[in-house]
Amino acid sequence: MSSRAFSPWRPLRAAIAGLTAASLVLTAGLPAFAQGVSLLRDTEIEEILHAEADPLIAAAGLTPKDVTILLVGDKTLNAFATQGQTLGFNTGLILETENPNQLKGVMAHEVGHLAGAHPLRSGDMQNAGLRPMLLTMGLGVLAMLAGAPDAGAMLIGNSGYFGTLGALGFSREQEGRADQAAVGFLEKTGQSGKGLVEFFDKFRYQEVFQEARRFPYFRSHPLSSDRIELLRTKVEVQPHYGVVDTPAEIERHDIMKAKIIGFTTPQVALMKYPESDKSYTARYARAIAYYRLKDVNRAVGLVDALLTEQPENPYLWELKGQMLFEFARAKEAEYPQRQSVKFKPDAPLLRINLGQTLINLDDPVKRDEGIDMLKRSLLHEDIPDAWRLLAQAYDAKGEEGLARLSTAEYYYALGGLNEARGFAMRARDLLEKDSVGWRRATDIVLTANPSREDLKDLAKEGLMAHP
Ligand SMILES: [Zn+2]
Repeated sequence: MSSRAFSPWRPLRAAIAGLTAASLVLTAGLPAFAQGVSLLRDTEIEEILHAEADPLIAAAGLTPKDVTILLVGDKTLNAFATQGQTLGFNTGLILETENPNQLKGVMAHEVGHLAGAHPLRSGDMQNAGLRPMLLTMGLGVLAMLAGAPDAGAMLIGNSGYFGTLGALGFSREQEGRADQAAVGFLEKTGQSGKGLVEFFDKFRYQEVFQEARRFPYFRSHPLSSDRIELLRTKVEVQPHYGVVDTPAEIERHDIMKAKIIGFTTPQVALMKYPESDKSYTARYARAIAYYRLKDVNRAVGLVDALLTEQPENPYLWELKGQMLFEFARAKEAEYPQRQSVKFKPDAPLLRINLGQTLINLDDPVKRDEGIDMLKRSLLHEDIPDAWRLLAQAYDAKGEEGLARLSTAEYYYALGGLNEARGFAMRARDLLEKDSVGWRRATDIVLTANPSREDLKDLAKEGLMAHP
């Protein structure tokens, strides 16, 4: 995770602001809590969230790999379920959960909304043309999920978006049904519903607050005493009520929290995880915190110590590589990043990190390997930053046509169709006619709202029959 990640967005945001008027209306005038929100990407945290949520998703009859889990970098307490099978959890909510069972309770409730197709019925988001976007937090890179090319690149920087999702809310009846469904999913997976009741109970005092002062989550999920008691009564009689989290689950959950705290509030991390705490989690949190506080030598030393205990942990290697690359030590970053890919070959973000380092080493052979690495990351997931880095590498290599095509792909994946079309047109001029790249550039032009003029140009080449 990295905060440097946020700078590349500024020019893009300006370029595509105003893409969809409806979203602008919807997100206008949002309260302060919604400001400064971003989507975070971290392979380790995503893995932990999936490990917690996937059994519940499967219990609901949905396919876990089809459900996207978003990590929203926002200290307020919120979670949401949206159309397109997306679950979102604010870092603030995760940090408020005392144990995995509490978070799983909230997850089960949100899965209840998904399974009940509540988000689809609410209609608001569809009418607004909103689609979930995803930013990455790996090594100064940002990315979004592909497959949402129309509505929303502007939403990336539009912090109001996630506040809006939480504020849309469901009906009281839908809330009750999601609670009931949650109990069923937890029971079916052999887990207790105790955490859900505990979590709601913990925030019961929110009831007495004025609507505007409540956390967003409890604005959309009003916690009446009746609701909590109904839930408690049901949960307590379930056969698996007494089941508790395993030590491994607790460790995983603690690591996720430590990582979030280390990255987002390093000063807090150093207080919460003092030197006297020698646990793996505390040392991990301190390493991240020192790195975020720019004490990179100290941070690297701490990670090295952790690596002697867990030499095959891809995320420790990832962290070490990220720290070194970010502090202009790309040469030293190469080995740790190779290790991270070796121990976790199917993680696109780790491949992108290595690819980024390789193309920055001023070595033509490694640059080509970097290009290959970035392309391979795209086989797993269409992350726009891989395209951005590819454009950079092709430029350095003097392959201007492929550089323009990669930039077109980058904008296309982000939903900036006008920019995508413009770069694809330029790529077509530079690439050899009928080559693979040229055909792809043509496809982008044709699917990115081409103007009459563009179509006329293509027609001259006899391309109108092209799909
Ligand atoms: Zn709900």
